[in-house]
Amino acid sequence: MDVIVIGGGIGGIATAYQLRAAGHRVCVIERHATVAQGATYGHGGAVLPSPLDVWFGPTFMGTRRANKTGILFKPGFDAATREFAKKLALLRDPEAFTAQYARLHPLVELSRQAIADIDGLFEFDYEQRTGLLHVFRHERELAQAAPAIELLRRFQVPHRVLTPKECVAAEPSVPDDPPFAGGVLLETERTANCPLFTKLLKHILEEGGVQFRLGREAASIRLDGERAAVELAPLAPAGTERKRSREVEVVAADAIVVAAGTGTPALLARVNRRLPLHPLRVHTLTAPIAYEEHAPHITVVDSVKRIAMTRVNQRLRVAGGAVLQSAAKAAKPLPGDLTRRALALLGQGTHDWIPGAAKVSAARPWDGVRLFSSDGLPVVGATSHARLFVNAAHGPAGWGLACGSAKVIADLVSGVTPDIPADTLAALSIDRF
Ligand SMILES: Cc1cc2nc3c(=O)[nH]c(=O)nc-3n(C[C@H](O)[C@H](O)[C@H](O)COP(=O)(O)OP(=O)(O)OC[C@H]3O[C@@H](n4cnc5c(N)ncnc54)[C@H](O)[C@@H]3O)c2cc1C
Repeated sequence: MDVIVIGGGIGGIATAYQLRAAGHRVCVIERHATVAQGATYGHGGAVLPSPLDVWFGPTFMGTRRANKTGILFKPGFDAATREFAKKLALLRDPEAFTAQYARLHPLVELSRQAIADIDGLFEFDYEQRTGLLHVFRHERELAQAAPAIELLRRFQVPHRVLTPKECVAAEPSVPDDPPFAGGVLLETERTANCPLFTKLLKHILEEGGVQFRLGREAASIRLDGERAAVELAPLAPAGTERKRSREVEVVAADAIVVAAGTGTPALLARVNRRLPLHPLRVHTLTAPIAYEEHAPHITVVDSVKRIAMTRVNQRLRVAGGAVLQSAAKAAKPLPGDLTRRALALLGQGTHDWIPGAAKVSAARPWDGVRLFSSDGLPVVGATSHARLFVNAAHGPAGWGLACGSAKVIADLVSGVTPDIPADTLAALSIDRF
């Protein structure tokens, strides 16, 4: 079949890879001049999400105090944002959390397998490192993480619950003073460079005959019974900066996959499919290593504040500092004081857990928006139109989940039953809203 994938982030590129592997002819449409420029560019590094990493559950967003949760609330919520926060809060209940993570788990495992297959085939070097240490300041927080730790045990994810002394032994850059409650070491989980992985995969796709329409924006989707098509926004004629040509180009296909990150709801709204997804602005700091002896050799995660500190060669990448605000405001740049507060959370996280490791004053800040659903799961699957598919809203775990969700999409497009349980497929489906 001829399949169009809209979006050149990890979601779109992984989808194109699985579609090509399934024998389809694929065209990727991306509005930027190259791939991995959206949320994929700013990833924090964790490859696969564990029950401790997902952005829902008993330890997530317990209060509105940013210094406790790592999440900033921008005043002036609209009703939709209040509703989003309220629904997400329901998953703080341990039973609800456990049931929801259990639905997601098969997708995590499918991704693990898909990434292992890609690693086995191409032996890419995308700056992989092994080991994540989740740390907890207070006993109460560690107790709240008990359902997640129980899920690690149930799904046989290799892990060790550590005393503070054992944490310091596992990662000597973590100070034993001030005191903290302990940690969970995920020795075999990996971090890596997601944009690099995306670009390496793109190269393989180009060699495999996948067509890339870069620098082109999908303006709308056209659907009828027989064929589907994407209308491309007109290009500005050469030599003109602003004026656009009136010529509309339409690319037809047998199927379309929307993997357009935060651009997904707008594209689907044009075919009357409204998704209650919420954008969250998230920050990173990339700082040079200050003192080698203080730099962590495994990734350290402030588990409650969801701040991940990952070493990438001679740099430290700190990711987190999310800002919850009304959806309409998320597309606009944040006011300076909020940006400063979000970045200060990241600086504080570094100071608390790996002091002296990085030159935070010389750090390069970045921020990007990622889409969340209020039930914590992505939107992956078919739609009510047989030729339209969606792969989006992976929230904090789009890097890891991309390769598995891409496989689900490729199976659905090919008319094959995906290799995940039916309740997982239903929980990811667009029809659940
Ligand atoms: C700070 C930060 C830290 C993160 N840390 C992690 C982590 O540690 N682990 C993890 O697994 N995930 C992490 N994530 C999440 C992960 O990065 C995202 O879930 C993932 O990159 C989303 O990929 P995507 O392809 O869906 O979206 P994107 O990367 O945003 O790609 C979507 C693409 O679609 C294009 N597009 C949109 N609309 C159109 C249109 N109309 N026409 C043409 N092109 C269009 C955009 O230009 C963009 O390139 C993090 C995200 C952020 C922001």
